[in-house]
Amino acid sequence: MSIPLIAIVGRPNVGKSTFFNRLLSQRHSIVDSEEGITRDRIYGETEWCAHTLRFIDTGGYIPEDFDTFNVAVRKQAQEAVSEADLVLFMVNGKEPPTGSDKVLAQFIRECGKPYLLLVNKCDGLKNDNQINQYYEFGLKNPMPLSALNGRYTGDILDAIIKKLKVKKNLSSNEHNNSLRLAIVGMPNVGKSSLTNSLIKKERTIVTPIAGTTRDAIDVYVRWHGNDITLVDTAGLRKLAKIKDRVEYYSTVRTKNAIESSHVVLVLIDAEKGFGKQDKTIIDQVIKKGKGLVLCVNKWDLIKKNTQTMKETNDQIRMQFKSLDHYPIIYVSALSTKRIHKVLEEAWKVYKRGKEFLSTKKLNRVIKKIIEKNPPIAVQGRNIKIKFAAHVSCEPSVIAFYLNHPKLIGRSYKRYLENQLRLNFQLNGIPFKLSFRKK
Ligand code: GDP
Ligand code: GDP
Repeated sequence: MSIPLIAIVGRPNVGKSTFFNRLLSQRHSIVDSEEGITRDRIYGETEWCAHTLRFIDTGGYIPEDFDTFNVAVRKQAQEAVSEADLVLFMVNGKEPPTGSDKVLAQFIRECGKPYLLLVNKCDGLKNDNQINQYYEFGLKNPMPLSALNGRYTGDILDAIIKKLKVKKNLSSNEHNNSLRLAIVGMPNVGKSSLTNSLIKKERTIVTPIAGTTRDAIDVYVRWHGNDITLVDTAGLRKLAKIKDRVEYYSTVRTKNAIESSHVVLVLIDAEKGFGKQDKTIIDQVIKKGKGLVLCVNKWDLIKKNTQTMKETNDQIRMQFKSLDHYPIIYVSALSTKRIHKVLEEAWKVYKRGKEFLSTKKLNRVIKKIIEKNPPIAVQGRNIKIKFAAHVSCEPSVIAFYLNHPKLIGRSYKRYLENQLRLNFQLNGIPFKLSFRKK
């Protein structure tokens, strides 16, 4: 199960932001919404009883004016709620229900998601009966709360955990079904443009979260029900107007982004073609054993016919043979053409990278491969590979057990790798072969 996502909805001034800020264990610095990044939601995380919970604050942007409200609420609340696992519907206990509250209540009843009705501004014991006026919504068990002084916050978090039926404790870092994707490449290749196009396209985006270092910003996206974090996104840094003179491409920066991700999208410029520095980045990715997708950007600038993509593929792969084993996609960050491919391919590679090959099938294939082309004897010594096992994932290591591990030659290693790739679905995944004495 992924980290539960909880949407806080309610009309303006009921106290959503106050509650949201109280919940966050760490304050996440939110990039100025005027920059068009946070769009209309803020997101934050908290730990409760060793569970990680993720919250979306839908903000106070919903106009209070009833007519516009009705339209706006459908759209905004629907979006937030559609991606949420649980909805917190907040009302103001100091006031009787308003027309807008009723519209929302109906929406909550119909949305089919688990929910809690929170009656806020119950600042003291004598205010707890404020919840009574909200029974008329026909929603289950209104709960009192004071976002201002924190009363009942713990009870609400307990209720959330109970409602979600979360069992496993997963912190966001060790979270086992959450892809961390780095977008790297030379300056001006379009990293920022692509990041921003992805954010606009994937309406499920939540927001930037400040990373560990001052200028690293991760962005969390929920994509087809899956969690994806865009690691240290250059584009957002730019938009966040952090005066960072160090180019994103600086080796350290790229290296860190690669290291802290599962899959790396290496962007290259369609007009400039594949260069030496692109190769350096790709080498790093492969060496680190990270999933790799090569992405040719600015494809809109290329005059093309039906063959152009294939020809470009061939050209790139001729310049860098290893790229035979990695997907190449063609996009335009600017026109957003085919950018749906980005997360699609990255996710496929990510899933593939986590899968262990079955030992049985692996050994059946290895046997066949060796029979077809056995390793040649070295200095009169016959090399006998006894069996193989896929011993680790992320990075992937396939171990061969044999009598003389030191005697296996380079070209035979390459033969084994190529044959494994032909027999198994390993596109996008670097793997190491390890030869061990047995
Ligand atoms: P939002 O528009 O729903 O995000 O509401 P805010 O969090 O901005 O809060 C609106 C106003 O209500 C602010 O002045 C808050 O200080 C106040 N407020 C929020 N929670 C409480 C509460 O529990 N008790 C009282 N008395 N005031 C609150
Ligand atoms: P970064 O340095 O890698 O973040 O690159 P930017 O995203 O800042 O883009 C550099 C320049 O390339 C900008 O002028 C963009 O408008 C332009 N650009 C980015 N993507 C595309 C694209 O797909 N097509 C075209 N024609 N221009 C692009």
